[in-house]
Amino acid sequence: MLRRVFSLSTLISSAKPSPLLNQVAYGLSFLKAFSTDTLKPVEAGILSKATTPTINFVLGGPGVGKGTQCARIADTYGFTHLSVGDLLRKEISSNSEYGAMILETITKGKIVSSEVTVKLLKSTIDSSKTNRFLIDGFPRSEENRVTYERIIGIEPEVVLFFDCDEEEMLKRVLHRNQGRVDDNVDTTMERLKVFEAYTLPVIRYYSEKGKLYKINAIGTEDEIFERVKPIFAP
Ligand code: UDP
Ligand code: MG
Repeated sequence: MLRRVFSLSTLISSAKPSPLLNQVAYGLSFLKAFSTDTLKPVEAGILSKATTPTINFVLGGPGVGKGTQCARIADTYGFTHLSVGDLLRKEISSNSEYGAMILETITKGKIVSSEVTVKLLKSTIDSSKTNRFLIDGFPRSEENRVTYERIIGIEPEVVLFFDCDEEEMLKRVLHRNQGRVDDNVDTTMERLKVFEAYTLPVIRYYSEKGKLYKINAIGTEDEIFERVKPIFAP
């Protein structure tokens, strides 16, 4: 029954703003990315680290298990796991300048402004003593991606996509008991719509670039990790 509620056409037709608006917004941000402003050194995507960090992105819908698998990948293969959702939640709990805006956005299941997220990510990478990162839950939109390219500009080596049906994702979110403001039916339905409308285009982008590794996220934690291993083992 849930499957019908979650059908792709329903999700896309009821997504707010619509994929069309998303395209327009992306088009505008894309043009902005190519304005002469981007030629300034500060915008050239250079971090203040001595060696260029290795970056991998980990994507997938809400509750799919990104965080769980990232922790295991990080442990086994020596990465620093950066959950961008966690970084944003830290901004809320530390009452930072953007805390209230971030809380409102997360509560609604929408995507936080790219400038805020990317600057937060950049300062976290900059101040880290390590140089190999798994970025969990980002980029969530084409606008996120283009802003990342402008401000950080390090091409990801691998983009993992944990794939699972929406009914299962909703179930996992509602069972994880982490006390999160967005782990409820209404917000999760919205996050699923946002995932379809905004994150799937990012996944398509990296697939076309040959960087995407799609992992079947149905199974036990161990089974799923076995599917991930060959990607990082070499
Ligand atoms: N979020 C965001 N930008 C990001 C990452 C997270 O705006 O790059 C916000 C967004 O509102 C999202 C929420 O943080 O719904 C929770 O994200 P998280 O990745 O922690 O959730 P998960 O997908 O792991 O359930
Ligand atoms: Mg997570």
